[in-house]
Amino acid sequence: MSLSNCSLPILGFAAFSGTGKTTLLEALLPKLVETGIRVAMVKHAHHEFDVDKPGKDSYRLRKAGASQMLISSRFRHALMTETPDFEPSLNQILSRLDQSAADLVLVEGFKRENFPKIELHREAVGKPWLYPEDSNIIAIASDSTPDSQLPLLNINDIDSITAFIQRWMQGHLAHTATCDTLAPAMLSVEQGRSKILDQIIPKSKSKQVELKDAFGRVLAEDVKSPVNVPAQTNSAMDGYAIRSDDLDAQDYEVLAEVMAGYSYNIPLEKGQAIKVMTGAPVPKNADTVVMREQAVLSNGRVSMDTGKGAIKPGQNVRQAGEDLREGDVVFSAGQKINSAELGMLASMGLSEVRVKSPVKVAIFSTGDEVQQPGEALRENCIYDANRYTLFGMLTKLGCLVIDLGIIDDTETALENALSEASTVADMVISSGGVSVGDADYIKTVLERLGEINFWRINMRPGRPLAFGKLGDTPFFGLPGNPVAVMVSFLQFVEPAIRKLQGESNWQPLTLEAVATERMRSRIGRTEYTRGVFSKKPNGLLEVRTTGSQGSGILRSMSEANCLIEIVPEQEEANIGDRVQIIPLSV
Ligand code: AMP
Ligand code: MG
Repeated sequence: MSLSNCSLPILGFAAFSGTGKTTLLEALLPKLVETGIRVAMVKHAHHEFDVDKPGKDSYRLRKAGASQMLISSRFRHALMTETPDFEPSLNQILSRLDQSAADLVLVEGFKRENFPKIELHREAVGKPWLYPEDSNIIAIASDSTPDSQLPLLNINDIDSITAFIQRWMQGHLAHTATCDTLAPAMLSVEQGRSKILDQIIPKSKSKQVELKDAFGRVLAEDVKSPVNVPAQTNSAMDGYAIRSDDLDAQDYEVLAEVMAGYSYNIPLEKGQAIKVMTGAPVPKNADTVVMREQAVLSNGRVSMDTGKGAIKPGQNVRQAGEDLREGDVVFSAGQKINSAELGMLASMGLSEVRVKSPVKVAIFSTGDEVQQPGEALRENCIYDANRYTLFGMLTKLGCLVIDLGIIDDTETALENALSEASTVADMVISSGGVSVGDADYIKTVLERLGEINFWRINMRPGRPLAFGKLGDTPFFGLPGNPVAVMVSFLQFVEPAIRKLQGESNWQPLTLEAVATERMRSRIGRTEYTRGVFSKKPNGLLEVRTTGSQGSGILRSMSEANCLIEIVPEQEEANIGDRVQIIPLSV
């Protein structure tokens, strides 16, 4: 979710009710205005409100059906817009503000949306802190001291809060001139994916291969059919070939029987029929086949029901070129060759095709605690699962995997591994060590070697994600948690690999299912819950979760046959609600 409709610095206040948000804002506004800042405020109301009064002209006109009512005077104007069907998002509301007449937008409410906020907290209210849960919080104003790295302000010192906002605006304006950078502190799944795909350039290397070796690969060039398929007009049934201009006869003389692979080369006359087997060419002039079961053969003559409408001219005959016509482009470059495509290429008589070279992907794991399976487990350690799930998912996508193993958590080891990987591979993927506050060296080394962005994606699991380039080689730093690795792979790495492979028009399959239990959901965040979907007797799909959803519980992926995707706009997913599912085949 992006606040792309806001070209101004935007700042919210996050607090539990009873903290005195409005009172604080009331005291803060004159101070900000005094410094010359023009402030626009946006406030969310939970309940129905009306600024109009029954009996007023504007009220009467609205009630008469005006879906927008703009009332204006010398001193102010107000626009009332009826939105009976949906609640507008903050971003939609922002488009209504005249941003040319303000320097700063302050927001009260909309607490689930992603934009920078100051947390207001009073000890006496007795509520928990919000900052550990809300990564949009940029500072805390309180009368107590939390255990946080965030800037701390005294909630009772309005001057210092004013000064903070001024400073923040200056910094904000200095490095955020575009909508993109004014966007939220976090990226949505959609935003992350499109930023990644923008940077992926399809590989150009290709190779001529034998047909069977093309299975699972992507075509590097268009394929035109060198022949008609089928090559001859032939029978789709076992039966009798006759002429459609000869349906009035009592019966027909059967001249010959033609098997598939043979032909009868004399043009058919009226009153004649040829017995044909499925796949056998029909003779010249014959254009219609009557099924054997609908015909009676007696003494070398065949009769059938030729009454009106019993036989449709042209029935049971496959025309030459009906499937593929000679010279037609049958597949375009970028087509993935699955079983049907492989069969079609063969049916055109092709024994070789040019395909994209497989994408080479180097993978490694990081973390002092991560250990190679097969070794005795040291104290406090875990076995490396991520390199194996990655190996599986990459292999399934047709990639060549270069396994660099577990890299020691030292700067030199990481630096060597990364520079080597980026020269031999088309893509490099690591897992672990990209979360905020991680002790691993990976971040420092990456920052030195390439252009890497450390993102927070508004999703669960899989929030931290590093993406960038080592030289020209795309790099993904996936989180360490095994489920997060798989989910982020499916959301970000797979689309990138498919683009790199030159596959065009790929879309993941999503289906709709009815939730049979309540599922985790939060406005603004994409939740990927592991689920099991099945078909109900009425044909609709239903889905349950696999239970415990910890992002380290790999078993939940194994037990699942789908990911349940609860989109950012969905506030709740209750029993009976429709949810999106992504079937898993990894
Ligand atoms: P990190 O992102 O490095 O903070 O790791 C998050 C969690 O994932 C920690 O509990 C790690 O021990 C675990 N983890 C990291 N790498 C792996 C791996 N290759 N296999 C299994 N678990 C891992
Ligand atoms: Mg770690």
